[in-house]
Amino acid sequence: MKKYMLPVMMLAVFEIIAVTLWLTKGNIFYLFNFSYIGCSIALGTTLFIREYKYARRIVQLLVGCYMLVYLGLICRENMQIEGFWYYLFTGVFEAATIHYAVAKIFGPLLFGRGWCGYACWTAMVLDFLPYKVPQKPRKGIGWIRYIAFAASLAFVAALFLAHVGNIERIMFWAFIIGNILYYAVGIALAFAFKDNRAFCKYICPVTVFLKPMSYFSVVRIKCDRSKCVSCGKCSRVCPMDVDVTDNSRKRRNGTECILCMECVKNCPKGAL
Ligand code: SF4
Ligand code: SF4
Ligand code: SF4
Repeated sequence: MKKYMLPVMMLAVFEIIAVTLWLTKGNIFYLFNFSYIGCSIALGTTLFIREYKYARRIVQLLVGCYMLVYLGLICRENMQIEGFWYYLFTGVFEAATIHYAVAKIFGPLLFGRGWCGYACWTAMVLDFLPYKVPQKPRKGIGWIRYIAFAASLAFVAALFLAHVGNIERIMFWAFIIGNILYYAVGIALAFAFKDNRAFCKYICPVTVFLKPMSYFSVVRIKCDRSKCVSCGKCSRVCPMDVDVTDNSRKRRNGTECILCMECVKNCPKGAL
């Protein structure tokens, strides 16, 4: 039973969040929402422990489809970064702001960029593409993410400053168009750079929150140097170009780790 402690702990953390938000906000939706996400993650970690090959992909599909289809399209909540700015400006602490606070701002202090590995609906599609391991060296164009971040903030701020009516409806359409754009750019970049995660590395504005917070993450991939034989396989299979065997928080591309566990699965010495 001891080996199943992680899924039990993950489920407990999400249930605490679910019950706390349900009781403090008096809305049973939060109980359902965070219980569903907690159960999906607990199921995925259990399958991973049982060495099921597609464990991560199953969590990604369960959580990603729920966010995109149910919260985004059916409940009409803009769950993208524009939705976060929108609800922040209106002072409403609702789905998108809570989602950002838990998954992308404070959560990464605990579980790093687990969101990117297990829940993001953009990466859920990109991970089906053929370049799971980058075929080309990383490019120095990560600064584009800051432009995308500023553009998303400017877009929502302009709607408020111009006193545009029916912003709620605009945000719904922004969610649909934004997602189509993300998928189109993400797929085009993946083929151009022969790298499924090129969009995550260079464009995604959410990484402006994710990267600095995940620097302090409690959950990290660490290398037991006494077992490591420096074969380099872990770095070769890493989709995010992390210098896996360096245990320092300053390791190369350390804040890019999405906890996908490919390095752990492929290490021939069980050093990770
Ligand atoms: S970097 Fe952005 S697009 Fe990529 S997985 Fe993370 S949140 Fe999703
Ligand atoms: S392969 Fe390892 S270091 Fe690279 S992203 Fe996945 S978990 Fe992180
Ligand atoms: S795959 Fe394992 S043994 Fe090889 S370099 Fe990485 S940690 Fe060391």
